Amino acid sequence: MKALAFYGTRDLRMEERAIPVPAEDEILVRTRAATICTSDINDLKYNTFGLPVSTIMGHEGSGDVVSVGSKVQNIQPGDRVTAHPVMPCGKCDSCRRGLPHLCDDMTHLGLNKGGVFAEYFCIRADRVRKIPEGMDYALASLMEPVCVCLEAVERAAVQPGGNVLILGDGPFGILTAKLVQSRRPGCVVVTGRHDFRLKHATHAVGINEKAAPDIQEAILAASGGEGMDSAILCAGNAQAVNTAIQCLRARGTLAIFSVVSPMPDIDLFRVHVKELNLCGCCNDNDYLDQAIQLLADPALRLEEVITHRLPFAEWERAFHLAEFGKDEALKVTLTFD
Ligand SMILES: [Zn+2]
Ligand SMILES: [Zn+2]
Repeated sequence: MKALAFYGTRDLRMEERAIPVPAEDEILVRTRAATICTSDINDLKYNTFGLPVSTIMGHEGSGDVVSVGSKVQNIQPGDRVTAHPVMPCGKCDSCRRGLPHLCDDMTHLGLNKGGVFAEYFCIRADRVRKIPEGMDYALASLMEPVCVCLEAVERAAVQPGGNVLILGDGPFGILTAKLVQSRRPGCVVVTGRHDFRLKHATHAVGINEKAAPDIQEAILAASGGEGMDSAILCAGNAQAVNTAIQCLRARGTLAIFSVVSPMPDIDLFRVHVKELNLCGCCNDNDYLDQAIQLLADPALRLEEVITHRLPFAEWERAFHLAEFGKDEALKVTLTFD
């Protein structure tokens, strides 16, 4: 099979590999769609997670089941499935504490197990969901990013009627802005630097930082002066952290959903006097079924985040678009015949 393997920063190669063989609790999937994640771009830039050389990358994928391991029930060859890349061990301290998404010994597609940027991949059967009738493979491949964004919404304590600030107009920011609508919030504000991306945050107020001399004032004005109950950081810059802290109302919550660099100077005095909550979010604690339901909800228009579908052979163009196409692209999906 053809696969995209990591050979170091800025070194991704298409090569010929053997089709993997599923273990007894796994299934073999013929890939039909694989979507590029911001974290794939970061791995190729910095290799933050220490990907071993020759790892097949990619973790947002869907396809057709080809064969199943001897202990697999409920999934059959021919089923259309979408994959969640995180496979918790079920035994470690975090797993035993009910936090399998923070497993200390997780297997992760595209990280320590062959990923979805390949014509075939193997995954544990409990980590896939069947694709509903009528949903295409590309949209279904967004199950995991939707799951993770739902964790961010949960951690940010978004309540019906509560005002929500989303900082960052990358794929995660825009996806979160769309998903948050399912919680019937008050006002939703998204900040970023690209009009093309901000306009995809349907039903939210988009504020382009480049056109707003005082971003804090613009955010507060958008909430009618009330301030924000929840803020979700989907941008990597230190300044955004303090913008969020300044815009939160008393007892508001900031969820850190992005790597921030350099290390920010945080206004802890305001955290203290306003009794703010700061928390992190990274993987999701099993929102697979909810994610599928929301992907199928036409009112949320989640399919709009997929701006490009390119054949697998055009992977170089796809990665270039995903990294640099900030005025024309959000999610870029590779398609397979
Ligand atoms: Zn991802
Ligand atoms: Zn574990």
